[in-house]
Amino acid sequence: MHIHIFWDSLSPPGLQIPVTRKISSILGMPATVSENHVRMMGYVDGRKQIDAQVLLDSIQAYKHRHAIQDPLLLVVNQDLFKNGNSFVFGLARQSVGAAVVSTARLSNEYYGRDGNDDDLIDRITKEGAHEVGHLLGLDHCHDQECIMFKPDTLDELDRKKKVLCKLCSDQLAGYRSSD
Ligand SMILES: [Zn+2]
Ligand SMILES: [Zn+2]
Repeated sequence: MHIHIFWDSLSPPGLQIPVTRKISSILGMPATVSENHVRMMGYVDGRKQIDAQVLLDSIQAYKHRHAIQDPLLLVVNQDLFKNGNSFVFGLARQSVGAAVVSTARLSNEYYGRDGNDDDLIDRITKEGAHEVGHLLGLDHCHDQECIMFKPDTLDELDRKKKVLCKLCSDQLAGYRSSD
């Protein structure tokens, strides 16, 4: 198995290689990154946000067309929302192996602080690994430092470490050996 990462042209340039390496290392699985080939859909003018479910539909269609079985993560710069949530950092659709994360709320600048590429790389990595973790069968975890903990705020995201806890890591190893 192999993780495909699509980096949209509006996403922060120059960070895709370190993010891809780190996601690969957290999940213990090869990953490659390329430019985005998925049609960007779901933009809602009134909200200036993308409906994450509609974008997942587009990823799903792309995967189907190209017969891609492996997990595919799309990294976009536009802010995402879904039904009932004013925003989401990312969203995964496990049944079809499709996930999306947004970098919009992951930069220091968004919160009026000085920009820092290392912070941004860390956050995209954590969010990306989290969503791909769902695609690999993992659920949310109660351990606040685990990649599979669901953060509601940037502080909670920053508190997480770039590792799976023992429980999640064992679970993932179990899925992989039963393939
Ligand atoms: Zn999650
Ligand atoms: Zn965990």
